[in-house]
This record gives sequence, structure tokens and C-alpha cells, in this order.
Amino acid sequence: MAMADQVIRCKAAVAWEPRSPLTVEEVDVAPPKAHEVRVQVVSSGVCHTDVEYLYEAETGMSFRPFPLVLGHESAGIVESVGPGVTKFSPGDHVIPLFLPYCGECERCRSVKTNLCRKNWANTQAGVLADGTSRISFKGKQIYQFLGVSSFCQYTVVPETSLVKIRRDAPLDKVCLLGCGVSTGYGAAVKTGKVEEGSTCAVFGLGAVGLTAVMGCKAAKAKRIIGVDINPDKFEKARLFGATDCINPTDHREPLHEVLAEMTCGGVDYALECVGSPTVMSEALESTTEDGGTCVIAGWTEKEKMDVHVLKILMGRTLKGTYFGGWKSVVEVPQLVDEYMNQKLKLDEFITHNLPLDQINAAFDLLRNGKSIRTVIGLQDP
Ligand code: NAD
Ligand code: ZN
Ligand code: ZN
Repeated sequence: MAMADQVIRCKAAVAWEPRSPLTVEEVDVAPPKAHEVRVQVVSSGVCHTDVEYLYEAETGMSFRPFPLVLGHESAGIVESVGPGVTKFSPGDHVIPLFLPYCGECERCRSVKTNLCRKNWANTQAGVLADGTSRISFKGKQIYQFLGVSSFCQYTVVPETSLVKIRRDAPLDKVCLLGCGVSTGYGAAVKTGKVEEGSTCAVFGLGAVGLTAVMGCKAAKAKRIIGVDINPDKFEKARLFGATDCINPTDHREPLHEVLAEMTCGGVDYALECVGSPTVMSEALESTTEDGGTCVIAGWTEKEKMDVHVLKILMGRTLKGTYFGGWKSVVEVPQLVDEYMNQKLKLDEFITHNLPLDQINAAFDLLRNGKSIRTVIGLQDP
């Protein structure tokens, strides 16, 4: 390992300030410290959360320190490991994880939650365990988004924020299991526990929503209603299993009334995959009062949603999901297996492949509703 103890100079897309496009720069990536792993990032999807932290900083989202390297939905190859790392070796194929799994804490041992808090405070603040980032530009520290920063050709992550996967899995596809696909699919099958024969509505048909549709189908829901204000999303939604598609702007009445009429009283499961408090309230009200469940996967941090107390009093359940409820290190390899055994689709979510220097085009495609997922090839020329 010639590079193991050395700084690697490589390309990264740097977000210098909120609401400004990224610029591709030559950055320095320091060697991994104790219990850290340096990963050569091969592919990274662009998720709406990357867009939100850049363009909605201090509005919907809480402020993250800049300059920042975004990206959190990736796959790559271990380049070197720091002292004390026993579970990874150079050459291992891996998926970096924005949700860690230490396997030892109370939450990792609980069946009720996947919210391991190992290194939580520091990775949320954009640094690793020693309070610094491993990425710098001309000596200036660049913060690491969620401790991952996959819009960089190399990154360093805590060993508890990384999972080894089988070598025959294509990295340019399974990168999507690092966030979007796992989140939506898990929102349906893991957090929502959608039941066979049930009626479901999925609000928002981006990657998270489409994978929620796929999860409802896998759970054998009998009716899956896709909801989006962009009708271009409907064709894909039908491909993944939506039985009906609705555009709220085609209706004068609130959507929960439209859905109540379509389903004789409301859906059994409503999955919010937009990130809008208004849509979240609609989703909850769309569920049937006799035991309906609303799962919120869409992300917003500073806003509040309205809940009519009576809607809850009558017996509905409101749940949230982080990373689809999966125990990341344990369950992501199982999702990789499901993909390799053709039980779970990934290729169909990828509408664009672009090199790192076109990352702003990938952000624009997502913001303008023109893409589902763009996969950035970090090592592409
Ligand atoms: P996306 O932009 O690809 O999809 C969002 C979809 O919602 C778009 O198709 C858009 O047209 C639609 N939409 C917008 N306003 C709408 C409305 N009023 N009614 C119906 N549809 C509407 O985004 P994505 O990557 O699929 O992410 C979706 C959300 O999930 C984001 O908020 C993202 O931050 C969040 N997310 C959460 C987690 C988690 O762990 N919970 C993980 C990943 C992403
Ligand atoms: Zn994401
Ligand atoms: Zn833990």
C-alpha cells in the first residue's frame, strides 16, 4: 500500500457557500486515523437531501458548516485502513453509511430503532471523531457531509459508518442502497410494515417514493396510488407497481378527500416522500381512521406539520423513518443480495450517468424534476 500513510490529492466537488453551485477542486485527503477507513469512491448518486442542504440551508434545513463536500449515497473500494481497524482491508468493496451501526450500543441492540449514535454529534457537525475533517483545500479544512462526503474521489469514514458488500455487485448500481432506495423501500416494508391486500398511497414519486411503491408491491398491497405534481413521474411509478396515479393539481378538493372517495374512507398506508409539512398533513389525513398508518420519509428539519388531534384520537398511527428503518451494517448487504437475486430493482432508478465535473447539471436535473437518480462516476475521465 504505497499511499496508505500519505495524503492523496484528488478531485472533489466543493460547496463553498449555501445556494451557490459546486466547484470541482483539487483537494487533499489525509490518511485514516484510528478506527477510520479511507475509501476510493467509485460511484455516488445525487439525492434530494444533498440538494436541500445546499439550497435550503437555514430555511427548511438546519445550517451545516461550509465549505462542505456533499454526497452520501455511494459505493467504493477500501484504499487503506487506520490503526485498530479489523473488519476492513484494502480492496474490499464497500458502501459508506450516513447512519452508523456500532453493534454494541443500546440502540443497536434494540429491535425498536436503527438510530445508532456512534460519532453522531461530530459527523452531523461535518467532522470525524477527533473534531477535524480529513479533506482540505490548500490547507483549509473542508467539512464532511454526514461524515461521508462522497462527491470526492477519496473519502475517510469511521469504521462504524461503512459496510462490506459482495464483490460481484456493480458499484455503479448498489451505490443507491446508500440512501434513496433503502429509505423508500424500508419506509414501506420495514417501518410501515405494509400488509398483503392493503391499500397504499405514496406521495412524491422521486427515487424515495418510487422505491416506496416498489416496497408496497413487494408487500403485496392490492392497490398502490402514486401522487405527484409532476405527471412525468407516472410512467415509472406504474412500472414499479402503482395501480393508479394522481396529480393533486387536477383536483379542486383536498387530496385526502379525493383519496377517501377512491378508497371508501381512506388508505391503510400513506407514505410521504416529498419533505413538505403540508403534504405530510395530507398524507396523515388520507389514511383510514380505523388503524391507518402514515409514514414520513421526506426530510425537513425546521418546519412543523399540522395534525388535527381528532385524526390521531380515532386510531391512526404517525411514524417517521430514517434510512428506511434498516440496521445499516447488518441489513444493507441483504438488500445487495436482493438486488443480485433480482428481487429488488436498482437499474431502473438511474436516469443519468455523469462525471464529477458535471455535478451541477445533476443537481439541476433533480431540482427540475428531470431525473430520478443521476449516478456520478467519480473515477470517470
Ligand atoms: P425527488 O426530488 O427525486 O422527489 C420528490 C418528488 O416529490 C418529486 O417527484 C416532486 O415532483 C414531488 N413533489 C413535490 N411537491 C409535491 C407535492 N406537493 N405533492 C406531491 N408530490 C410532490 O427527491 P428524493 O431524492 O426522492 O427524496 C424525497 C425526500 O426524501 C426528500 O425530502 C429527501 O430529503 C428525503 N429523504 C429522506 C431520507 C430519510 O432517511 N428519511 C433519506 C433520503 C431522502
Ligand atoms: Zn439521501
Ligand atoms: Zn450503535
